[in-house]
Amino acid sequence: MDKQAAEHVIRAPRGSSLNTRGWVQEAALRMLMNNLDPDVAERPEDLVVYGGIGKAARDWSSYHAIVETLKRLGDEETMLIQSGKPVAVFRTHRDAPRVLLANSNLVPRWANWDHFHELDQKGLMMYGQMTAGSWIYIGSQGILQGTYETFASCARQHFGGSLKGRIVVTAGLGGMGGAQPLSVTLNDGVMIAVEADPGRIQRRLDTRYLDRMTTSLDEAIRLAEEAKEKGRPLSIGLVGNAAEVLPKMVEIGFTPDVVTDQTSAHDPLNGYLPRGMTLEEADAMRKHNPDQLVAQAKESMAVHVKAMLDMQQKGSIAFDYGNNIRQVAHDEGVTDAFSFPGFVPAYIRPQFCEGKGPFRWVALSGDPSDIHQTDEVILREFADNTHLCRWIRMAREKVEFQGLPSRICWLGYGERARFGRIINEMVASGKLKAPIVIGRDHLDSGSVASPNRETEGMQDGSDAVADWPILNALINAVGGASWVSLHHGGGVGMGYSLHAGMVIVADGTPEAARRLNRVLTTDPGMGVVRHADAGYEAAIRTAQETGLDMPMLDS
Ligand code: NAD
Repeated sequence: MDKQAAEHVIRAPRGSSLNTRGWVQEAALRMLMNNLDPDVAERPEDLVVYGGIGKAARDWSSYHAIVETLKRLGDEETMLIQSGKPVAVFRTHRDAPRVLLANSNLVPRWANWDHFHELDQKGLMMYGQMTAGSWIYIGSQGILQGTYETFASCARQHFGGSLKGRIVVTAGLGGMGGAQPLSVTLNDGVMIAVEADPGRIQRRLDTRYLDRMTTSLDEAIRLAEEAKEKGRPLSIGLVGNAAEVLPKMVEIGFTPDVVTDQTSAHDPLNGYLPRGMTLEEADAMRKHNPDQLVAQAKESMAVHVKAMLDMQQKGSIAFDYGNNIRQVAHDEGVTDAFSFPGFVPAYIRPQFCEGKGPFRWVALSGDPSDIHQTDEVILREFADNTHLCRWIRMAREKVEFQGLPSRICWLGYGERARFGRIINEMVASGKLKAPIVIGRDHLDSGSVASPNRETEGMQDGSDAVADWPILNALINAVGGASWVSLHHGGGVGMGYSLHAGMVIVADGTPEAARRLNRVLTTDPGMGVVRHADAGYEAAIRTAQETGLDMPMLDS
């Protein structure tokens, strides 16, 4: 561990005075630091934020250089970040992004983990995941509403609108997977989440995302069945290995209502513990025999997916939760691995067609009351959206802030620009104590090409077309986003995705108002356009009703 990191825990500055030369630079500084706050990041001592080895900066010297550069960066300059390392500052103009980031991008022929790890070890690259390398990760809440929406949609499709009296089995309680238990209990269901690392389970207990912990499968099943019987929500973290526990469940005839998975299967070297191995043994093998570890992890994933398929055969609703585990199992010879769908085509795409996705904002003041005031705005301005208002009320009551106070909710085309304008006015009038940072996940409607996830099974077969995230990044940069990023390999691993991020600061100025209006229109607009172009009726309708200019829409 870096000496300085060991001695000084990183936390973003709070309050309304600047450590930099402007609020956009200040926002980038605070959000980079917030990504590495021990309350937010999974392994801040290694610069790892979430999602396997998703990092905020390439190494500690890069981190310090980014911080120093942000402190001196002028309002007419732009810093360039190449895979977590600051490589240049150019003179640009006031409306240009202050930071442009490109993380983990490889020429397609070389776009695999082997080549990436080689470059990573040489210190030439880092894995940016999605919001880790683009400095807009906000802890498990960031994924909470999406996960809640997914389970809500699953409940609507299969169980009459509620998970009450239903048991969901999953694995992985990491940075994102940790949102699963609370999402299920918010939908009134019962969850057993298998997690190899008891420390991760404890963390979810500490933040109230999880209710119970046990090391016994029998106890987990007994508790789950009791709660199911009584129709009471309950989440149980079960210490164990999914590749051992799920086959055991099949063997003893336990069939959950729903089965999914959020281990970091996208990264067989760092993200998936092979069966029959302790965490310490895996750590040692990662250093001394990485090829063997990868082989064993892949073999275990095949066993894991076979158990999910067995459960599906016996009546469970099974879906892949965006970690590419089906692909690995398929490559290992499980020919029917794709017999269960990914969560996007199964549950999320209709929202993408309206430009909806995981929109989020963060109070740079550090004061929770700033977020509570924005909650009130949502409840007032979007009062007709009962689903959204229900979410905001639940989030306010149940979600613990991690790091800087933040909120997430799925807003779509038109709604985002409207909300951005209101926030900027609140900052201008002094209602909020400091500016607000607005951003989103890369897992959004118009910012990602990922054929095993966000663009799986596109209606026109355009799953692998990656022009869209590139256009998304370009138009958002032109519009004046505060920072824009283009990444490869997030979510599903090297070779399987390209995606773009954008963040924009509402500092209360008229210039920010103009930038917000442009960017919060182009960004979700790209989602509507991407899906309308692919022929989705709902997206075509949205484009027509909102007057989006698509020259070939009618042809
Ligand atoms: P993470 O690396 O923080 O956590 C993964 C967890 O899985 C760890 O706690 C690890 O101990 C556990 N684990 C690994 N192998 C296991 C095994 N065999 N049995 C039981 N537990 C095991 O990752 P994360 O941020 O939680 O993300 C999880 C996965 O979900 C990633 O592949 C990520 O790309 C994917 N993902 C999902 C979404 C979504 O919308 N759901 C979005 C982005 C990414």
